[in-house]
Formats: sequence, C-alpha cells, structure tokens
Amino acid sequence: MMRDHELLIGGERVPGDEGYFDVTDPASGSAFARCPAGSPAQLDRAVDAARSAFGEWQGASHAQRCEALTRVADDIEREADELARLIVREQGKPLTLAHAEIAGGVAWTRYAASQEIPVETIEQTPAQQIELHHRPVGVVASITPWNWPFMIAVWHIMPALRAGNCVVSKPSSLTPLSTIRLVEIIARHVPRGVINVVTGERGLGSAITGHPGIDKIVFTGSTETGQSVMRASAGNLKRLTLELGGNDAAIVLPDTPIAAVAEAIFQAAFLNMGQTCSALKRLYVHESQYRELGEAMADIARRQVVGAGLEEGVTFGPVQNADQLALVSELVDDARAQGAEVLCGGERLARDGFFYPPTIVMGVSDGQRLVDEEQFGPVLPLIAYTDVEDALRRANASSMGLGGSVWGADEVRARAIANRLESGVAWVNCHARIQPDTPFGGCKMSGFGVEFGMQGLLEFTTPQLRFTCPLPSPAAS
Ligand code: NAD
Repeated sequence: MMRDHELLIGGERVPGDEGYFDVTDPASGSAFARCPAGSPAQLDRAVDAARSAFGEWQGASHAQRCEALTRVADDIEREADELARLIVREQGKPLTLAHAEIAGGVAWTRYAASQEIPVETIEQTPAQQIELHHRPVGVVASITPWNWPFMIAVWHIMPALRAGNCVVSKPSSLTPLSTIRLVEIIARHVPRGVINVVTGERGLGSAITGHPGIDKIVFTGSTETGQSVMRASAGNLKRLTLELGGNDAAIVLPDTPIAAVAEAIFQAAFLNMGQTCSALKRLYVHESQYRELGEAMADIARRQVVGAGLEEGVTFGPVQNADQLALVSELVDDARAQGAEVLCGGERLARDGFFYPPTIVMGVSDGQRLVDEEQFGPVLPLIAYTDVEDALRRANASSMGLGGSVWGADEVRARAIANRLESGVAWVNCHARIQPDTPFGGCKMSGFGVEFGMQGLLEFTTPQLRFTCPLPSPAAS
C-alpha cells in the first residue's frame, strides 16, 4: 500500500471527514492505495477558502502569477518520474505514455505561464476612452475524468489560475491520486486557499454543481454527466465549459496509400487504450480498400505487447476500470452476435486486472451499438462505404461532434470533405492532434466552450467594458 493521501483545503492537508475509499490498480484489479473521502462540509470549507483567497490572487500582478506557474512547471518536471509511476498505478497506461502525460502537463503549464491577457482599446478620443478588459470569474471548480487524470487537471487548473481565479479541484474517484499530488505542488507556489482539492466517491460532484459559492465549472467527462452539470448549475448561472464525449469518425478516401497511413490510424484509435475523448472511434473505408486496411490494422494490433504499465517493453496497458471493460466486452459481443468479423482480440485476457487486447472489428455498420455508441476502449469498428458522400453523411449522423478526420493522397479533396464534417476539430491525414496554443472543443452533444489558446484562457474570465470620460466642466453660472 502507498502512503495515505490527504485533501488540501485552505493550505492545510487534512483527512477526509468520511474516512477513506480504495483506489484500484487496473493491472491487478486490487486496491493499492487509499484516498480520503471528503464531506459536503469540507467542500464548503474549500469553497470558502477559495473565496477568501480570491481578493489577493486577483490582485497579484500578471508577472507574479506567471512566475508561480513557471515554478510549478519546474517542480512537475523535477518530480516527473514519481508522478508518472503514480499515474500508471492508478490509471493503468504504460510508463512511457504516463511520462508523455507529465510532459504534456509541463508544456501546458508553461504555455499558461507565457500567456498575456489582452486589453482591447475600442476608442481613444478626447471625449472618451473605451477599453475591453477581462476579469477573473472568481471561484472555479474543476471536475475531471479518469482517462488522462493529470493532464486534464492541468488543462483546467493552469489557465484558471493564470487568469486570477481560485480553484477547487475534484478528480475522478477512480484516479484521484496524481491530481492530489499536482495540487500539492501548485500549493507550494501560490497563497493559501488559491488551490484546493476535495475527493470523494459519491455526491461530491453534484454538491459542486449546485454550490452557490462556485462561479464557474470546467467539466470534462461523459455527455450524460455534463447534462446533469448543466441542469444543476442554473441556480447561480454558473459559467460552464463542457468537454464531453465523442464518437469521432474518420473517412479514408479511395486513393489513400494504406501502408502509409495504417500505423497513424491505429495510434489515433488506440491512444491510451482507446480511452481518449478525441480518439478515432469509427473508421469509414472505401470497399476497394476495406480488407487491406482491416488486415493492416490487425497486424499492428497483434504486434502490441499487452501487460501492466510498469512492466518493461509493454506498449498496451489494461482498461482503467471494470465497468469500462464490461462495456467494451458488451459492444464487441453485440457486434459478433450480429455477424461481425473480429479480426483480432475480442475477448478479455484470462489474467488478473482489466486487460482487453486491441480489437479490430469488420462487417459492422451504422445502427449497431459498436458504431453508434462511444466505446471509449480498445476496439475499433471498420465500416465499408461505396460512395464518399454517403460516408460523409453517416459520419455526421451522430449526436456527438468532437473531432473527425479525412485521409487521402489528394489533400485538396480531403480538405474539402473535412470542411463539411460537423465537429469541433477536423483533421486531414492525422487525428487527435492537440497543442497548447490551439483552441480545442466540441460541438453538438460533445459540449461547448474551448480549452487551450487565447480563447481557452478567456473562458476563465468575464468581459468588463471600461468607459473613461473627462470630468464634466463646471457648469457656467
Ligand atoms: P464521468 O462523466 O463518469 O465522470 C467525470 C467526472 O464527473 C468524475 O470526476 C465524476 O466523479 C464526476 N461526476 C459524476 N457524477 C457527477 C454529477 N452528477 N455532477 C458532477 N460531477 C459528477 O466520465 P468518465 O467516465 O470519468 O470519463 C469518460 C468520458 O469523458 C468519456 O465520455 C470521454 O469521451 C469524456 N472525455 C471528454 C474529453 C473532452 O475533452 N471532450 C476528454 C476526456 C474525456
């Protein structure tokens, strides 16, 4: 067992009022650590602490806030190895990927530290000066999922702090520990109460969404939970950024050289064992290349070394939790029962832990659960098409709209089709690429608002228009 972790409220590390809950290692299926279970009263204290700290933090200069974030990035880098191992234990991904997650956390933190908050001069005349400023919102709650627990917490917290807000973080109860460590690192460099973390198994998320002391929620998770967040946030009209589920389609155009794209398509679909919001989740392939691409993908899948993330040479870890494993198994079994061809994988491994090998499924189509629902796991359905217009129509016939991609040797044609994808991001000859300075977010039921870039930073602010006029001249008597 690892050492017990604690909540951080108003600068104090404290145990949870409601005891502890177990955190499970996905590679063994057994508990490896305990996490404090906070109470609604502790959430209230965290919100109060954030509110009290807000006056000082919003008054800090931009340079002070940037300096604090730079020091946070330096500490994350220094402690990368320990943090990466903790991510593997709680999340399951291979160690190299956990290191990539930490490196991403560092990059996004340094980017937040480098950002300027713009002031726009709209008019400057002797009669009046009009400027558009951006003020921090106040107390921001961050609610995060279990797939990239550390990096998504960074995406939420760093721009919020950069803009001058105070934060209460609530990680997924499946992967809370790396976020607790992140918050402890941040707390070294900011005044007490600016950053807080409250963990718990049930009810804390909904207590946050209805809390009158919270001004904004940045939420990443499923569409269903996002809908609950939106409904419950109406009481004080909380500002919301909702990064929700996806069912990204990719269309491979008939002229595409399969050998050149197979590896990139595989990686985009199976990134983090497929547990990535913007992973490629439905692959539309022209009938002339359908078999060739399916076989190429299955060859790559069979070469993966499946095992525990801390084992040497492993390229493919377990699914994060038992429920997700059950969903993936159910979707594959449903497709098989309807006559689908499972080229490789297709059964959970007979060993402890939540292992399911990378699975390629052919002979499926729209209207089947594996295609219509977000699998969020290590299985990719390939759907054959005969007409590109029809493939585009089917790609867009989803309530989700996170990302989508078009692949083809004729870039002009591929771009023209990508322009018509109903998604927040449209990639050409790549998929699931993100970077700190480019806004990312979904449309339709994949959510609203963006993260990253200037637009992402401004989501943590509220506009304030400033009119300045000269004093009126004294009235002539
Ligand atoms: P989830 O919705 O089950 O949980 C997300 C978080 O919400 C957790 O911290 C959970 O404890 C909390 N929560 C649960 N009920 C709540 C409630 N009623 N009110 C407030 N908070 C509540 O999602 P998950 O299973 O952890 O993550 C997987 C989902 O996240 C997938 O659908 C995936 O596509 C999505 N996701 C989206 C993005 C994106 O950027 N769009 C990124 C990563 C993951």
